[in-house]
Order: sequence, then structure tokens, then C-alpha cells
Amino acid sequence: MVDARDPIADLRRIAFLLERANEATYRVRAFRSAAKALAGLSAAELTERAGNSTLTELAGVGDVTARCVAESLAGEEPVYLRRLVATEGSDLDAEATALRAALRGDCHTHSDWSDGGSPIEEMALAAVELGHEYLVLTDHSPRLTVARGLTAERLRRQLDHVAQVNAALPEGFRILTGIEVDILADGSLDQDDDLLGRLDVVVGSVHSGLKDERSKMTRRMLKAVANPHLDILGHVTGRMVSSRPAGVTGPGDRGHRARTRAESDFDADAVFAACAEHDTAVEINSRPERQDPPKRLIRRALEAGCRFAINTDAHAPGQLDWQRFGCERAALCGVPADRVINTWSAEQLVAWTHHRP
Ligand SMILES: [Zn+2]
Ligand SMILES: [Zn+2]
Repeated sequence: MVDARDPIADLRRIAFLLERANEATYRVRAFRSAAKALAGLSAAELTERAGNSTLTELAGVGDVTARCVAESLAGEEPVYLRRLVATEGSDLDAEATALRAALRGDCHTHSDWSDGGSPIEEMALAAVELGHEYLVLTDHSPRLTVARGLTAERLRRQLDHVAQVNAALPEGFRILTGIEVDILADGSLDQDDDLLGRLDVVVGSVHSGLKDERSKMTRRMLKAVANPHLDILGHVTGRMVSSRPAGVTGPGDRGHRARTRAESDFDADAVFAACAEHDTAVEINSRPERQDPPKRLIRRALEAGCRFAINTDAHAPGQLDWQRFGCERAALCGVPADRVINTWSAEQLVAWTHHRP
């Protein structure tokens, strides 16, 4: 009699690795749906159904996922999982590795309350597994309707919900409250001031009018950066690159079309000088399709004396491990760990967001 593995944990691990490798959403969903469907079964029923090949009669369980379950129950690492582990990305160099190891949390993440794919609880558990001490939940603001941005009322409800989730999470880890607030055309922020004041961390990003002319975009960003509620300036240029970073393996282009978008035009030196003056951190966005800001601008922000936040902008649990891409780019630009705000503890981070000049 061999010891069975935990088949649900194996399915979730596969989903995580697929997300991390930026594979198409439908492939990930197959494993997450199967894990969800099977979590409701007793161990006895699971074993019985695997034995008489009736797992696939359950909604959300297909041939591939059923085979993984059978292998897990037989005590073997599923072949699918073994193959994913074997083709994992290449190692980071020493500096990027040290920077990644110094990060204690992530300041930009989404849940299914806006356009993320997973519940807050799932995101938090993945962050715990990665060794994070905190995760800042930053769902979108009302005007971003395509991303189901949260109204003031829904955000208040989310704050109550996060308090409940936090109470059930392991000690030493917590979800910090936050928002990715739209920087509106006039540079104001798309959420009530009292709510912005209540949140632990406020990330502000431009999502509209990205082709605005230079002086207009500069004014817009300068006004946002000077807003005392804004802690982090998100994906600064708004660019989309189609290339994948080194270390990401797998085909993965099916299911998500390559979109490219030019950087928006603004006076970067003026914006970074304002970030340094108002102590607003510049985000190094780790998403493979963003890689924002480009390295030449990271170097200029560094020279301007800015702080940074190396964030994933994760919309799914596996994407929480994309921080390594941001760390690689930060390391290439010589960003030292002491300029990166998510090397701080949750307490230090929140003390900073609430006492900025
Ligand atoms: Zn954004
Ligand atoms: Zn985002």
C-alpha cells in the first residue's frame, strides 16, 4: 500500500505553475475547476470514483485532470506536474535572487471582486505559500467598468470581508487593504477621499487617455503624484510589450492575443522628481506583457532618488510569483533593496503610507 498524495493540492499546484508560466487561461481553469469540484467530495468517494473511472462524470473534471487525480491517489507525482516542474524557468542571477529574497510582500494584486480570476482567500493562501508576510489587495476603482471596478459601497464591503479573511489566516501573514485607483483625466483619483484615507496602500494608475499629448499627461501625473493619498504610481508608461521574458517556458500564446501598446508620452524627469519630492514610490510592474517602466526609465527614477515597489499586478495566484521578473529588471538597473518599499515589514509599510509628507 503506497501513501496517496493530496490530489487537490497537486491540481492546485499545476494551476499555479501554469499561471506562473503565463499559459492560456482556459488551461489553468481546467485544473482550478477540477480542484474546486473535488474539494467537496469525501476521501472515500474520491477514491471510489477514481477506482471505477467516474470522476469525469463530475462537472469540471475532464480526462486530463482525472488522470492526475488517479496518479496522485496511487502515490505518484502526476506526469503533468512532473513535466511542468522539469521545464520551469531558468535561475535568476545572484543579485536578482537576493532582491527577490528581500521582498516581504506584494503591493499590487487583484481578486475576483474586480477583474482577477480568483477569490481573495485563494490569492492570500498562494502568497502565504510563497513566503510573503503580506499581500496588498488592490482591486480597481469605479470608472474602470470593464474591470468591474469597485464602487465606494462595494469597497466598504470588501474591507469588512478582508477583516474576516484575515482573522482566519495563519499568524504572521495578513492582507493589507488597498486599491488600484484610476488617475482621471484631470489628475484626480477615482475614489472617495475618506475611503482612500482608510486604506493601507493606494496604487494609482493611468488606464484611459494613454495617448494624451505630452503636456497634458505630465500635468495629469504630476497632480496625482502630489496627492497625499497616492503611495505608489502604478505601471508608469502604460506600455504593452508582446515579448516574453527569458525563463518563461511553454507555448502559451493560444488564448491570449499579443497586444502591444506604445509608452504614453510625458516628462519623465519632472514626474520622477515629483515622486522623489512627495515620497511616492515608482512601481516596477513585473507582468511579462508590461515590463513597465522600461529599464532606461527605472535608471532615471533611481537617479532622481525615487523609492520603488516591485509588484506583480497578479490577477491569479500563480502570477504572484512573477516578482522575480521585476527583480531581474531592477537588479539590471542597480536598484538597491533599501530603495524598495516591499522589503519592509507590513508595519513599516503602513507606517510609511500613513506618514508621508
Ligand atoms: Zn492597472
Ligand atoms: Zn492592476
